[in-house]
Amino acid sequence: MAALSHRMLRLVLSHPTTRVVRRVSDEVTAAATAAAAGNKNPSNTIFSRILNKELPADIVYEDDKCIAFRDVSPVAKVHLLVIPRQPIPSLSVANNTDQNLLGHLLLVTKQLADEHNLQEGYRVVINNGPQGCQSVYHLHLHLIGGNQLSWPPGT
Ligand code: AMP
Repeated sequence: MAALSHRMLRLVLSHPTTRVVRRVSDEVTAAATAAAAGNKNPSNTIFSRILNKELPADIVYEDDKCIAFRDVSPVAKVHLLVIPRQPIPSLSVANNTDQNLLGHLLLVTKQLADEHNLQEGYRVVINNGPQGCQSVYHLHLHLIGGNQLSWPPGT
């Protein structure tokens, strides 16, 4: 196949379809890398460092059970992450003793949606495991909204 000229390559890479494919592939790669690295110790993730205030983050909410901060790579006008202080790696390893905490995380997420004027609608997402594109093994809820979202979210 003939090599693409730089101009053609720029056009292909800037096409919306290509950008979506690249983003999906980036996320799959990040999730696979995190899982392969055995990065499943929630006391040793980027989010535990944010919790310990070792790393800066744009924190929008804090209480004794959880914090919420802006996602560094937002996919919508509003993209917040709500994380428990308790280091649960992922939803799949949560158990009955986490029931109150999980309910609290959902209610805080709802409160944040109200505070960020998402009355027209929003999405709450928990990615779980490599095939769910989880890239940080500290349980977190994505709160996404502020503009029209599409559905389905991916295959
Ligand atoms: P997930 O792919 O569900 O594990 O989501 C992890 C999310 O964390 C991604 O949306 C990242 O953009 C976000 N993220 C990674 N590092 C940071 C950081 N230092 N501050 C804020 N968000 C981050």
